[in-house]
Amino acid sequence: MDLGFTEEEEIWKRSLREFLEKEFAPMAEEKEKIGKPATREEAIEIAKKLKKIGLSPELENLGAIMSDMANFGIMMEEVGRVWASLGFVLGYSLTIPAVIQLLPDGMYLKERLLPKVKAGEVVATYALTETEAGTDNRAMKTTAVLDGDEYVINGSKTWATNGPISNLCLLVAKNEEGEQDLYFVDREESPYETSELGHMGLKYASTGELFFEDCRIPKENNLTDLMTEIVVGGDVAKLMDEFQIPADILSLIGTMSPVALVLGILRTGMTFLSVGISQACLEASIDYARERVQFGKPIGKFQLIQNMIYEIAVITETSRLLGYKTLDCLKRGDPDFRKNSSMAKGYACKRVVDAASHAIEIHGGNGLSDELPLERYFRDARMMTIPDGTTNINTLVVGRQILGSGFSAYV
Ligand SMILES: Cc1cc2nc3c(=O)[nH]c(=O)nc-3n(C[C@H](O)[C@H](O)[C@H](O)COP(=O)(O)OP(=O)(O)OC[C@H]3O[C@@H](n4cnc5c(N)ncnc54)[C@H](O)[C@@H]3O)c2cc1C
Repeated sequence: MDLGFTEEEEIWKRSLREFLEKEFAPMAEEKEKIGKPATREEAIEIAKKLKKIGLSPELENLGAIMSDMANFGIMMEEVGRVWASLGFVLGYSLTIPAVIQLLPDGMYLKERLLPKVKAGEVVATYALTETEAGTDNRAMKTTAVLDGDEYVINGSKTWATNGPISNLCLLVAKNEEGEQDLYFVDREESPYETSELGHMGLKYASTGELFFEDCRIPKENNLTDLMTEIVVGGDVAKLMDEFQIPADILSLIGTMSPVALVLGILRTGMTFLSVGISQACLEASIDYARERVQFGKPIGKFQLIQNMIYEIAVITETSRLLGYKTLDCLKRGDPDFRKNSSMAKGYACKRVVDAASHAIEIHGGNGLSDELPLERYFRDARMMTIPDGTTNINTLVVGRQILGSGFSAYV
């Protein structure tokens, strides 16, 4: 069993770290202090910047990165280490538009959106949560009703990352049979209203409500139908082969619902963003413990300080290992992906709060000052337990997967 990175992965990690530190670290400090969410124009500017290092939804870029699953972990960790908000701003705008490229040529959605995808101008959101349907997302009320060649959408969503600044929404709504399904809503063609929500951390990540009132979308924007088109009419096997994306991932489509699969991938991303925050806390704490002198010696010589550094290091390393184990399941199409993504997300996103709290403690008063990024790490870390499944629900998913569906504590 090899838990090390290959030479290519090491190079990718190093160059990405250098790039993010140079291009984004100063911006992170400035923007998070101002505390205003990104506008759509700013999100597009960021996308253009990230393209310089190959981080863009185009298959030749994203495909090359995802051909090696470890790269996904490296990318999210490095982003989290420098600026967790960036992970939220970029996440959906990298992945959702990538799907558009897999559609067969000639489809309206693809024809319309492809130039924007190539220009990095698609700011995407994923809208599942509703005011009355959070953890229990099956209680959702938003509907998509077929009327001729169009679906008519009615309902509202909340807490959607990028929602207010989005021009493309991947929406979860109930069909006429009451089943959840996924739909693409192109905001320029099918307008929806939005409003911004404020929150304690991840200040630059725009988050908000979406309102759909008799919003009409073409029938072909239904993702289940699109998946059939992609598999039958699109050249998915050829594309996966060309970009060396592990084909076993597709076998998970048979064992998990599309919503569960999307959630599993989001939870893995959240795991690595948390690893990045923990890693930043660890590095800052090591430096400070070596330099800060009290009682005539560096505080790093005190056993109780070493204990806190130990805690941060173990949290970081355990979370990282759980994350890579999850990615390995994804790569192999192993149904344990579901359990592992919840275990990794549940653990990493809960314990990153402890890591950030220890880091503040090690820094004393300076840890609470907004001159240093520790208080930002703490606020961002505290945000991580809620999105994409709370710690509670991830605990219960793991319990159910271990004990069997007859023991489910939540359905
Ligand atoms: C920064 C941020 C970004 C987000 N981005 C998105 C996004 O892009 N798209 C999207 O659709 N949503 C998004 N969300 C929403 C997020 O997924 C929900 O907030 C989350 O699922 C929890 O739902 P809720 O807030 O309604 O809490 P509730 O479901 O009301 O939960 C309240 C409490 O009850 C607990 N609880 C609920 N049910 C159980 C149970 N059966 N057993 C034990 N405890 C239980 C929860 O763990 C929690 O502690 C985001 C949220 C945040 C904070």
